[in-house]
Amino acid sequence: MSGHDVVVVGSGPNGLAAAVTLARAGLGVLVLEAQPEAGGGARTLPLPGSETGLVHDVCSAVHPMAAASPFFRSFDLAARGVELVEPPVQFAHPLDGGRAGLAYRDAARTAAGLGVDGQAWLDLVGRLAADPDALLGAGLGDRRSIPPEAWKSVSGLLTTARFGLGVIEQGTRLWDRRFEGDVAPALLTGVAAHSITPLPTLAAAGTALMLASLAHSHGWPLPRGGSGAITRALLDDLEAHGGQVRTGVRVGSTADLPPARAYVFDTSPLAAAEILGSHLPQRADRALRRFRYGDAAAKVDFVLDGPVPWANAEVGQAGTVHLGGSRAQLVEAEKAVAAGRHAEHPLVLVSDPVVVDPDREVGGLRPLWTYAHVPAGSTVDPTEAVTAQLERFAPGFRDVVVSSRSTPASQMSEHDENYVGGDIAAGAVTMWQMVARPSLRPSPWSTGADGVYLCSSSTPPGPGVHGMAGWFAARQVLRDRFGRREMPDLGPTAGQRTGIGRG
Ligand SMILES: Cc1cc2nc3c(=O)[nH]c(=O)nc-3n(C[C@H](O)[C@H](O)[C@H](O)COP(=O)(O)OP(=O)(O)OC[C@H]3O[C@@H](n4cnc5c(N)ncnc54)[C@H](O)[C@@H]3O)c2cc1C
Repeated sequence: MSGHDVVVVGSGPNGLAAAVTLARAGLGVLVLEAQPEAGGGARTLPLPGSETGLVHDVCSAVHPMAAASPFFRSFDLAARGVELVEPPVQFAHPLDGGRAGLAYRDAARTAAGLGVDGQAWLDLVGRLAADPDALLGAGLGDRRSIPPEAWKSVSGLLTTARFGLGVIEQGTRLWDRRFEGDVAPALLTGVAAHSITPLPTLAAAGTALMLASLAHSHGWPLPRGGSGAITRALLDDLEAHGGQVRTGVRVGSTADLPPARAYVFDTSPLAAAEILGSHLPQRADRALRRFRYGDAAAKVDFVLDGPVPWANAEVGQAGTVHLGGSRAQLVEAEKAVAAGRHAEHPLVLVSDPVVVDPDREVGGLRPLWTYAHVPAGSTVDPTEAVTAQLERFAPGFRDVVVSSRSTPASQMSEHDENYVGGDIAAGAVTMWQMVARPSLRPSPWSTGADGVYLCSSSTPPGPGVHGMAGWFAARQVLRDRFGRREMPDLGPTAGQRTGIGRG
């Protein structure tokens, strides 16, 4: 075999971001993917066994990070025909009694709906959204350098300081001091809970402030046609630059790897350690195996014959809905999960793509994407718990359900083995693990084995469809293995400079 310049193992958004970047640098790239289709956490497929003609997002559905990420902005999804469609309400949080917190693109409009806490929302979230680049530098950066956006201007410095103070406030018992009512804290806590950790924590507060402020700066859009549209754009570009993808090829050991000058693993750290075996120095092996996985998500994909009958009609305008009730109820639910129990009223995320994309409806039927937080490795079918939460905030929901298909947390890894025990963040979201992800090496993308790199969301900047971990890993490969410091253009037009190619 003549050999490739680089073999990428895994074709999730980070694997493909690495592959695209390396192929655009002129290298011969081969991607090996275990599943029958490429895309990992960004795939849109018919439900197995379903005859409805509907397609469902297998993992990710909503894309604030793809909209904001420097990688995808340079790659320019829109110019490649990927339409990121913003819903009228970016995200919603219904409460009992038909009340709801509604996050609009416009921070002032959001604040107007939050009554007594409107100004508190503007001070905490709205001001961060006014300087998104400083925030993105911190949130989607390499966790090894201070991004220039954060310190090169007065506004950047102020935003960074505000973010830090906001994280300390919302990540500790101080978090209720700012709010008087119950809607704004619930609205923010629904976003914090994305990190699937006990609340409050500093890491969850960082997640909450970044994602909530992105609603006001870049939106929480859904790709027309589903998340697979993002994967298709990456695959098209990779193939246009000579890259190849082989699906249905699981790499279990180094014997499965064709010869190459470098390997980039879009896998979990544990899988990397297993594959590399004795090729990994003992210390590096221990570090990868010590990486901690977090609690889990269990998914239910519904087929409905009508819209969700939300008690508050405006919730039906949202692309994402967080179910779980008040801040105190969310805290209880996440505490149960962290203690290894199933919450009586779990936190549930819901997305109805028809809100932005009427073509997702087929023959009067529509898909509804949901998942609930559950303990790691849970084998419990979440359908009844999710249905009950939906019925609580949308009485009559059961009447529009035609069918459903659940994926317990323990089965999540069957369609993407990076989600160990159903941990969709591919590693516990703690302050320590957001930096030491997967370990405290100066370059977290180097595994410690010569020429082998990790690029999955178990490396900085962590979970989400943003492609940044892939781009950072590709930058490391280009420097270490090919002596290149200049990063290639990512844009659809030749000669266009990438905004993240500062080398
Ligand atoms: C249910 C769910 C909902 C989510 N919702 C959102 C959302 O709405 N918005 C958002 O931004 N993010 C969301 N995420 C998270 C997001 O999908 C991930 O953070 C993202 O896909 C990580 O990308 P990645 O490339 O690191 O890994 P992945 O997308 O997980 O891809 C890894 C790929 O590597 C392959 N692979 C692994 N091991 C091997 C091996 N040994 N050999 C060959 N191939 C291998 C896998 O099959 C997979 O295709 C969600 C995830 C899940 C599971």
